[in-house]
Amino acid sequence: CRASNEDSYSLFREDEISVHGLTDSIVGVLGGGQLGQMLCQAASQMGIKVMVLDPLENCPASSLAYHHVVGRFDDSTAVQEFAKRCGVLTVEIEHVDVATLEKLEQQGVDCQPKASTIRIIQDKYIQKVHFSQHAIPMPEFMQIDDLESAVKAGDLFGYPLMIKSKRLAYDGRGNAVAQSKEELSSCVVALGGYNHGLYVEKWAPFVKELAVIVARGRDNSLSCYPVVETIHKDNICHIVKAPADVSWKIRKLATDVAERAVSSLEGAGVFAVELFLTRDDQILLNEVAPRPHNSGHHTIESCFTSQYEQHLRAVLGLPLGDSSMKTPAAIMYNLLGEEEGERGFILAHQLIGKALGIPGAAVHWYNKPEMRKQRKMGHITIVGPSLAIVEAKLNSLLSKEKESSK
Ligand code: ATP
Ligand code: MG
Ligand code: MG
Repeated sequence: CRASNEDSYSLFREDEISVHGLTDSIVGVLGGGQLGQMLCQAASQMGIKVMVLDPLENCPASSLAYHHVVGRFDDSTAVQEFAKRCGVLTVEIEHVDVATLEKLEQQGVDCQPKASTIRIIQDKYIQKVHFSQHAIPMPEFMQIDDLESAVKAGDLFGYPLMIKSKRLAYDGRGNAVAQSKEELSSCVVALGGYNHGLYVEKWAPFVKELAVIVARGRDNSLSCYPVVETIHKDNICHIVKAPADVSWKIRKLATDVAERAVSSLEGAGVFAVELFLTRDDQILLNEVAPRPHNSGHHTIESCFTSQYEQHLRAVLGLPLGDSSMKTPAAIMYNLLGEEEGERGFILAHQLIGKALGIPGAAVHWYNKPEMRKQRKMGHITIVGPSLAIVEAKLNSLLSKEKESSK
């Protein structure tokens, strides 16, 4: 899919262009984590002002934002006060106070994407119901309220059975896999009990996980990024390969499903669509994120327009940029906390030290004040002439034997 830039250009009316900046509109971002940090980096290049709302005084975006308001993005008063200072409101996390966003929209505040989209996405069960109503292919799913309904779901879908929290899920925290009927109760307890709001999904027998980032401008123009392969370890994104090594047919099918899913949601911005590729070449939707996404970090180095710049262009009504790759291949490796505390920092810094010596490698460190096991602390992207070459470079970076034999 392509951006229809002709329409977007008409958004530039001479009388609206500020004399000094590219735009006078301040982009307010709910959340100041690593995605907010990278939005600020892209904004700085274009002279766009980004304000972030985040409770952590030293959140990753704090030192780069035009202004950081210390406050909770799930607190109504904080969000309302923050909105008064912004021209357009957007998110880097979906777990925000959506009722307040809806109220603000009624008062004329410009939210992109729309609050209706955030409401659908932030509850994974409502998200599944929404996409099934739009005939998007997905693993079968069912709400569970007690042991009886969980057993019924197990009988219907078989095992392993994926049990998920409806809300506040990220990095697989909120997922549990029951291998048998006997494991149902312990999984439910681990997820906080039935009252927490749970549902189950039929196990997707995937051969690969894929993702597509779709950008939509305020004029409804669309621009899709290349299909990538995401490799998860313990439910957490570990490696992203761009482009995905799949046939042209699969790429087209994945892009079509992603485009259809995003077309069913309202508002401008980038949307990441997580997909399963099954053994019989079906594409099933896993979930959608209404914001920049881990599967698109590579776009900073590998695409003509990064997902972060694209998101800013989209929410501000600027023409969408070229989302195609400017390098044949890229691989992204997430730096996850290996150990708590100082030792974790030392291990990560050792790897970064090695990465700095690799041609084509770019290091991103999020400056999170605390090191925790499995926490996303940074990432490394390696670009190069082929997937085989960037994979070989990453393997040599990660090879411990090589390091110790030096
Ligand atoms: P994030 O938002 O960080 O992507 P999350 O906590 O929302 O993660 P999911 O995307 O629901 O979690 O699931 C995490 C991973 O678990 C998936 O990427 C996939 O590897 C696996 N998974 C999820 N649903 C299924 C399923 N129905 N069948 C098999 N594996 C699944
Ligand atoms: Mg998720
Ligand atoms: Mg996911």
